Amino acid sequence: MPELAAVLVDQVNPGTNRLFTYSVPPEFTARVRCGTQVKVPFQRRYLTGYVTPEPAPEVPGLKPIAEVLAEDLFTPQDWELVRWLSARYLCHLVEALRLILPPEVRNFRYAGRHVEWVAPNLAAEEGRALLKELERRAPAQARLLAALLEAPGGIPRAQLLKEAGAGPESLKALIRRGAAALRVEGPALEERPCCNEPRRRELPELNPAQARAVSAITAAIRDERFETFLLHGVTGSGKTEVYLRALAAALEKGKGGIVLVPEIALTPQTLKRFSERFGSEVAVLHSGLSARVRYAEWERIRQGQSRVVIGARSALFAPLRHTGVIILDEEQEPAYKQEESPRYLAREVAIFRARQDRAALILGSATPAVETYFKAEQGQYRLLTLPARVGGRPLPEVKVVDMRAELMAGNRSIFSSSLAEALADVLRRGEQAILFLNRRGYSTFVLCRQCGLVATCPHCDLALTLHNHNRRLVCHHCGFTREPYRTCPRCGSRLIRDFGCGTERVEAEVARLFPAARVLRLDSDTTGRRGAYEEILGAFSNQKADVLVGTQMVAKGLDFSRVSLIGIISADLALNLPDPYAWERTFQLLEQVAGRAGRGEVPGRVVLQTYTPDHPSIACAERHAYLDFYRLELARRSRYHYPPFAEVVLVRAAAPAEEAARRVLADLAGRLKSLEVRIEGPAPCPFLKVGDYFRWQVTFKGKDLEGFRRRLAEELPAVNSYGKRLGVRLSVDVDPVSYL
Ligand code: ADP
Ligand code: ZN
Ligand code: ZN
Repeated sequence: MPELAAVLVDQVNPGTNRLFTYSVPPEFTARVRCGTQVKVPFQRRYLTGYVTPEPAPEVPGLKPIAEVLAEDLFTPQDWELVRWLSARYLCHLVEALRLILPPEVRNFRYAGRHVEWVAPNLAAEEGRALLKELERRAPAQARLLAALLEAPGGIPRAQLLKEAGAGPESLKALIRRGAAALRVEGPALEERPCCNEPRRRELPELNPAQARAVSAITAAIRDERFETFLLHGVTGSGKTEVYLRALAAALEKGKGGIVLVPEIALTPQTLKRFSERFGSEVAVLHSGLSARVRYAEWERIRQGQSRVVIGARSALFAPLRHTGVIILDEEQEPAYKQEESPRYLAREVAIFRARQDRAALILGSATPAVETYFKAEQGQYRLLTLPARVGGRPLPEVKVVDMRAELMAGNRSIFSSSLAEALADVLRRGEQAILFLNRRGYSTFVLCRQCGLVATCPHCDLALTLHNHNRRLVCHHCGFTREPYRTCPRCGSRLIRDFGCGTERVEAEVARLFPAARVLRLDSDTTGRRGAYEEILGAFSNQKADVLVGTQMVAKGLDFSRVSLIGIISADLALNLPDPYAWERTFQLLEQVAGRAGRGEVPGRVVLQTYTPDHPSIACAERHAYLDFYRLELARRSRYHYPPFAEVVLVRAAAPAEEAARRVLADLAGRLKSLEVRIEGPAPCPFLKVGDYFRWQVTFKGKDLEGFRRRLAEELPAVNSYGKRLGVRLSVDVDPVSYL
């Protein structure tokens, strides 16, 4: 009887979302096991596939594995994680496996231990000239060169050929021309994203609160016990020092650790603190690195050369074999949710992984997610508190400015007189200021400039959005609509307006009011180019500018000791998004921004402008009162059936024909009706039309949705396939973080 293997083919397709049995020819038996990458005949082609640890049932017409490409790409434990991800987030097995095997690994491991890299070998200008010439005479070489010019740091040979759709002969010709060079190695040490910092030997002495936290966490690490800790500490309370000690304890135990940081906060400043402590043990994984560097970092981790992994959410899938501790800094961040399939929530995955590894899990935050704090209160997580800033530095004083009063006093500028004066003071004293406005590029909300009333939905308590095409106010969550108010229903005023102003206008206003001030702007428009983000931050940190204007990019992870003023241009923007988490997001964001002030010797203060000074998110941020906010928000969550009181699954449909999207969702909801789930909708998505597609959504809520998820997974293929005929694409979002 031939030996059999259960293989998952590398193709996202409803028909291939299961395992296929192949026979193993005798010459491969020594190499075929869990984690082996193979080539297999599939229908009339060959596909790449992966050998899983699952039993392979005998089937008629068995075909043999054609080729072995690479070995040991994943472990049985990784496969267990793949199975769990696919069941929890309703994604294909291959989509889940691809998290563990990123493209640079899937495509190039088989080139052997030494990957062949191709890099451009001429200046960009020459390259473009040559490109013009080649386009006419040698199109394949031109495509290769074009791809190379996009990747100045080099690109694996196999990937290059695939991307350019060119053969090895064309590449050889390009190399003979001297336009490209071949290298057989990983990146040089000086190209590694982190590791060359001089090591610092002397450690700060822990304060009593830090010492308590460290001893609880290191006990779990030493005993190899899975336990989840919530490290609740205000900004600047020394959480990072606790992380460093936990990592040191894991290393001492012969294990490693993973530190997740929201992508936006993965600054050179952050990396420096870890590499000062752990040197070349630190590996960095995030999407900003070139494929070449990322692959080399991955390989270092796999081989155990680097045991401290720092990265964005995907670093959770790093091939670290013995994990003693997993850390999620700023655990409440929406960046921990992947907004494309598999739509996983890193916090949930981290819990699964830490349990597998019997590791300690640290969720760190100044403003934990309401669900997280609730679980800590319930005893599911152990609560560790760092109540004060290190060195007795005070939290910055927050001055809330009522913009209604400013308007009344005749000030129509986007700066209140308090903010303008504070800014003038800072400039006079030669200190620095950060001005924050979270103007994401989308529709505004409607409010009464007389009394501050914001039009909300009577069923959801969410802000209504003005739709211009039909001149109606719409609730993006439940579908409720009404005609716009001509006068305010509370105070009768006619001063009802759309509200809107972005960072560019703030920048211009600063320049107008303070012509001598040097202003920099940090938002996605100014940081599109690689390296621009670091340049702007570097310039600000070297005092080359007085004022930094920005979106939430300025809110997270930055530490500038000369910043003594934070101006929040409008706290109302984020507050009035049609999203059930808007209040919590706003409170968290305000606390985070405020945390950027007063981190050095200069005390800091915050001027917060708003039309709704009494709103809980603002009133609590003014007093840095996390617990007060938590209690209020928890009550709201209970009232409207949101986590932690219910699990949520959101199903969205997108189609060129709006009615088709609605109908497919209504049908799906009908099939899933049961006593255990609440069904809300179908209703139009907050952004109804995106890229010529109309989007609708239906929300399922329930105490425990495990059984529901299984039923949904069973119904989906049928609904998907008839939906497809109507042009409808469905997407399932388990544990949604954004409702927009
Ligand atoms: P958080 O991560 O909570 O925002 P940090 O860990 O960044 O706080 O700490 C704030 C500052 O205090 C940092 O500059 C850090 O080096 C310093 N620090 C942390 N713990 C101590 C300590 N025990 N003694 C002296 N300085 C410390
Ligand atoms: Zn009013
Ligand atoms: Zn509603």
